[in-house]
Amino acid sequence: MIHEHRVLNPATEELVATVPATTAAEVAAAVTRATAAQRTWAALAPADRARLLRRFAVLVDEHAERLARLEVAEAGHTLGNARWEAANVRDLLDYAAGGVERLTGRQIPVPGGIDLTLLEPLGVVGVIAPWNFPMPIAAWGTAPALAAGNAVILKPAETTPLTALELARLALDAGLPEHLFQVLPGAGDVAGAALVEHPGVAKIVFTGSTHVGKQIMTRCAGQVKRLTLELGGKSPNIVFADADIEAAAAAAPMSFLDNTGQDCCARTRILVQRPVYDRFLELLAPAVASVVVGDPGDVKTQMGPLISRAQLDRVRAYVPAAAARIRGTAPDGPGFWFPPTVLTDVAPDAPVATEEVFGPVAVVLPFEDEADAVRLANATEHGLAGSLWTRDVGRALRVAQAVRAGNLSVNSHSAVRYWTPFGGYKQSGLGRELGPDALVAFTETKNVFIGTEA
Ligand code: NAD
Repeated sequence: MIHEHRVLNPATEELVATVPATTAAEVAAAVTRATAAQRTWAALAPADRARLLRRFAVLVDEHAERLARLEVAEAGHTLGNARWEAANVRDLLDYAAGGVERLTGRQIPVPGGIDLTLLEPLGVVGVIAPWNFPMPIAAWGTAPALAAGNAVILKPAETTPLTALELARLALDAGLPEHLFQVLPGAGDVAGAALVEHPGVAKIVFTGSTHVGKQIMTRCAGQVKRLTLELGGKSPNIVFADADIEAAAAAAPMSFLDNTGQDCCARTRILVQRPVYDRFLELLAPAVASVVVGDPGDVKTQMGPLISRAQLDRVRAYVPAAAARIRGTAPDGPGFWFPPTVLTDVAPDAPVATEEVFGPVAVVLPFEDEADAVRLANATEHGLAGSLWTRDVGRALRVAQAVRAGNLSVNSHSAVRYWTPFGGYKQSGLGRELGPDALVAFTETKNVFIGTEA
């Protein structure tokens, strides 16, 4: 049994903090406390709940720089990204707060009476977060769940518990009821599994690997527990010959190097139409080489280290020796560094071309025509995101509809937005997060009929 987690700085391998690991018994006690806090919370007037969430957002904003620096230290994120992430938590809380008074049911015409739908909170929601975007992904589940009247227990990843613990402190300072939002650091197969199995937890929101997501789905089935899954991706970036090739090549590097490729939406399968294939690679090489890799605390840095030695070993295992067609640079010495890497001459069904590597590695594959592009884009169990580059608006719409993925962008690699829905097709997930319907996912719909003829 692990009693504590050592949080290392991924850029230096220095110890940042030691955090106690929550036991299954402690999870059970937290669920009991959360159940009581949820009743208090749900009984508040909607405007009061909204006001408290806005106050929470204000405190996150006031502490944004500290939160960002903590994210740099524990996750190796670049300072620019970490600042965006803290601001994203603030925005998510504000957006969710705006939904509290707008979470309305419906009145449906039924003869002989009045028929109403009520949207009731689920109770206690368990959020199991990964290490790749510790703050935003924690908040994607937590903010709408709280706004819909639920309590939240958040289990951060073993490697990145510090910003989550800080958010729980800020929630208390903002005046949210004690135990309404609890953060329980700990091992996935202990604290995470205990949350999944506890009958007092009404819903699990999980983001992480497809492998663990499937295990959690199986365990939830025993209680028909509500579940949202955000799992892996192997997203295509389709470049047609009629596209602005310069723009497509300039945008491609950060679409798979941002967050050192540890991004479920990373565009790691670059599909290029044969007539522009060579030209695209000529343009891509200097664009990849110019990405600034180094100290994540320096605001000019674009790419930092991988999260851990385990992740570094995993990425290395995917990259065949000497197969790199294009390679950027990375620091030597301590830290979990891997250079930007582009592979060509890879079979479309090779593991590096079909599995989520979660590192700064992309493959480039040629295609012949539109049908071939769609076939290649869909030749994966994943379906999270994708981009396509073309000047033909009809083709853009046809291909956007034909690619089986939840989040597509045309002539851009748009990031995830808190006000538009996000989620995966196929084995990339179940359910949707964010967007205008985010709060509804944390409610049960009850139908009530009131007869008027008795
Ligand atoms: P993981 O799926 O093991 O961990 C994600 C979260 O789930 C962590 O909080 C972990 O503690 C928890 N967890 C693990 N086992 C659990 C269990 N049995 N019950 C309940 N909770 C459990 O991911 P990882 O091992 O940290 O990363 C491995 C790979 O997963 C990565 O290389 C990447 O391919 C993928 N991944 C994807 C995402 C994503 O956003 N889609 C995020 C993280 C990792």
